[in-house]
Amino acid sequence: MNIATNGIPKELDRFPAGVFTVSLDFELIWGTIDRAGRDSFRRLCAEERAAIVDGLLDLFREFRLPATWCVVGQLFLDPEAALAARRLLRTGARSNDVRLGDLRELAQQELCARDLLRRICDCPVPQEIGGHGFTHLPFTDPMCTAEAAAAELAQLQASARSMSLVLKSFAFPRNRIAHTGLLAGFGYSIFRCQDASWHHQTNRRGWKHRLGHAWDILRAAPPPVVMPSRHPDGLWQVPGSMLFTPARGVRGAIPVAWRVERAVKGLEAAAASGRVFHLWFHPTDLAPKSAEMLGGLRQILQRASRLREQGRLEFLSMQSLAEMAALFSQESSPAVAAAGGRSR
Ligand SMILES: [Zn+2]
Repeated sequence: MNIATNGIPKELDRFPAGVFTVSLDFELIWGTIDRAGRDSFRRLCAEERAAIVDGLLDLFREFRLPATWCVVGQLFLDPEAALAARRLLRTGARSNDVRLGDLRELAQQELCARDLLRRICDCPVPQEIGGHGFTHLPFTDPMCTAEAAAAELAQLQASARSMSLVLKSFAFPRNRIAHTGLLAGFGYSIFRCQDASWHHQTNRRGWKHRLGHAWDILRAAPPPVVMPSRHPDGLWQVPGSMLFTPARGVRGAIPVAWRVERAVKGLEAAAASGRVFHLWFHPTDLAPKSAEMLGGLRQILQRASRLREQGRLEFLSMQSLAEMAALFSQESSPAVAAAGGRSR
């Protein structure tokens, strides 16, 4: 722990260089399985499968970016195993959960993505695979008792193990933070908490929050740069800095260049301050206007690469960020410094 002169633990406030972290919520149809409009979303998911994931992997390989893919556990399984695992969850509070039952109009293949996950794992630039719930049940949902949350987390790790993966980073479904005390016990060392902007600091977003977010986008406000901090439950938490806003619905009218301009401000701020610019999105967010959106992301990665070449920015997955935070917390303590640790 970083120790202030008065002996009280102090939070890390910067690293020697800036950090660029990208996390993705990889969920396909599971992200909207309980919502109206699921059918229109299915078309976007089809495009995500056909082109977006490969487009992202091409960019991550070209720019040597180790992104963190937070995956809904059902996607790790083949259709038969996925169905069997869902039946195990159909107990108590979740007996009426649409995620576990009424999926008749969906092909079983739409609910799984083992082939895509193999491609992500085979990327020559190693990608981190993290967790995003097992069926995308928001942890603040009345159905999500502590018992239901523990079952989600247990099935999620078990499904990842079927591909020889152990998940250490977590993003809460819909960023609704709850049951944090369970995460460390299931092997997680870091989670993404709500974005640092004031309009994301809530589990219940209303019109005021949406308006605040829109205003930031319209004026290309610099996104906040952030730092990981120790959560009272023992693991690290790191806020998002900026959502790479999807081009769906009215947000499709926002020029891609505005998203790029904001992200570049975030990268510059991270490099100048030694803090983290944490960009996040869903691969589906790039499905409408995919060529333009992937092109915008390319511009962001080009700018980030230039800063890395100058030694002002590192690219870290969420797990590597947790490791670096742990390292610098220890190294900045007087005992480690006296033993010859690298100082900040
Ligand atoms: Zn999600």
